[in-house]
Amino acid sequence: MKDCLFCKIIAGEIPSTKVYEDAYTYAFRDINPQAPTHILVIPKKHVASMDAVEEATDTELAACLRAVRLIAKQEKLKNGYRVVSNCGPDACQSVPHLHFHILGGQQLADRMV
Ligand code: 5GP
Ligand code: ZN
Repeated sequence: MKDCLFCKIIAGEIPSTKVYEDAYTYAFRDINPQAPTHILVIPKKHVASMDAVEEATDTELAACLRAVRLIAKQEKLKNGYRVVSNCGPDACQSVPHLHFHILGGQQLADRMV
């Protein structure tokens, strides 16, 4: 989608540090990491948020979750990791293209908020 930051990253119009890609999914390092490993996994198809997943196919959605597991293995997150998807203003979603944060590489806080 025009004017979507993450669509521009997928298209290569904005540089990113790619860690994984398949037919449905792209993953890259967060520009402002909040943990030693902080990766964003996004569907190649533009979907605004979790609230719009009916616009994606089951295959497209499942590909993101399967990618999370492959990336965690690739990044050697043997001791665990957290997967987060902020949806809408109450969750402080700042980029309106569905994304899953993978956070790991250290002991994370036991509270999520
Ligand atoms: P949200 O706040 O929507 O859950 O997450 C958006 C994430 O995108 C933030 O963690 C932010 O650091 C990251 N981000 C924003 N702009 C860019 C960018 O241009 N490149 C990369 N790699 N990450 C970005
Ligand atoms: Zn987009």
